[in-house]
Amino acid sequence: MKKIAFFDTKPYDKIYFDKYKDEFGFEIKYFESKLNPDTAYIAKKFDAVCAFVNDDLGKETVKELDEAGIKIIAMRCAGYNNIDFKEAYGKIHVVRVPAYSPYAVAEHTMALLLCLNRKIHRSFNRTREYNFSLNSLIGFDLYQKTIGIVGTGKIGQTFINICKGFGLNVIAYDPYPQKNSDIQYVTFDELCEKSDIISLHCPLTKETHHIINEKSIEKMKKGVYILNTSRGSLIDSEALLNALKTKKIGAAGLDVYEEETEFFYEDFSYKIISDDVLAGIIAMPNVIITSHQAFLTHEALKNIAYVTLSNLSHYFKGEFLENEICYKCQKGDKCERAKGKRCF
Ligand code: NAD
Repeated sequence: MKKIAFFDTKPYDKIYFDKYKDEFGFEIKYFESKLNPDTAYIAKKFDAVCAFVNDDLGKETVKELDEAGIKIIAMRCAGYNNIDFKEAYGKIHVVRVPAYSPYAVAEHTMALLLCLNRKIHRSFNRTREYNFSLNSLIGFDLYQKTIGIVGTGKIGQTFINICKGFGLNVIAYDPYPQKNSDIQYVTFDELCEKSDIISLHCPLTKETHHIINEKSIEKMKKGVYILNTSRGSLIDSEALLNALKTKKIGAAGLDVYEEETEFFYEDFSYKIISDDVLAGIIAMPNVIITSHQAFLTHEALKNIAYVTLSNLSHYFKGEFLENEICYKCQKGDKCERAKGKRCF
């Protein structure tokens, strides 16, 4: 029976992995520790590792895993910005779950927008204190407002459909537009200038790092709402905090934060937060931060477990890896995958 070292385990991870592991014939050992250069040695006694968004799969960790004899890393997520693919190429295969529920993330994005705009987070706290005042709770109709979507892949398109149901006027920016779609594409500058709300659904790459920065914020309408359920480093957090202070940005709904690795998924309620920018952003009444939970639905967890274990099963059976990714094919360059084989 193949043994999997499962890093950064939370109780909700086990629900569906435990349900399906016997079907695939795997033994899973769950570790609470994140995968990083200090913990990678644990993998020595295992046949595969399973990791998540805030695990550190940089050069050093990949080297350690290689030394531990690991030949496959199964990411139980879609994003892969935390992996040194160049280091892994030729040594360790990397598989992921490209889509598990675009609805989970898109619906969470709308939840953030509705909550922020109609100040539900504030009224919830008020009425619990028997404060039934409506002062400062004025929102706006979403109907006929303009929302700018950055990235029109699976989640972006799902969110666009939700937005259309609200009567929002949707514009979008994507350097690789969807063919034969009715999406109204504009340049990124135009999107910044015209949008009342901007929502980020692109991956984190060199090009998109800090795509929301002092300069792009300068181009936006005063009072614009910013939504980010994609990756934290798409936004320059200091620029965001400054723009919230000057009211250039009217509100922000964030499921991700650029320095989230240290904090997200952990309980800091009895600790001092050392990150002044995060503390400053959280303190704003017009900000809602959730802790990278947009994916967290039963449907998504079920798909994540099933596809991750299928990926590993295909690997051990010597089959083609449909969900494999390497540094060549992610840029559209040719690797062996183009010939219907594994990446290398
Ligand atoms: P996808 O690959 O289907 O779509 C990404 C889109 O972004 C593509 O259309 C691509 O062309 C576009 N894009 C690439 N470079 C761009 C750029 N420079 N500017 C604008 N658009 C660009 O991915 P998806 O499944 O829709 O997921 C989107 C992102 O959501 C992921 O990269 C991941 O970071 C994030 N995500 C977050 C959660 C969560 O729980 N918060 C869960 C899943 C995914």
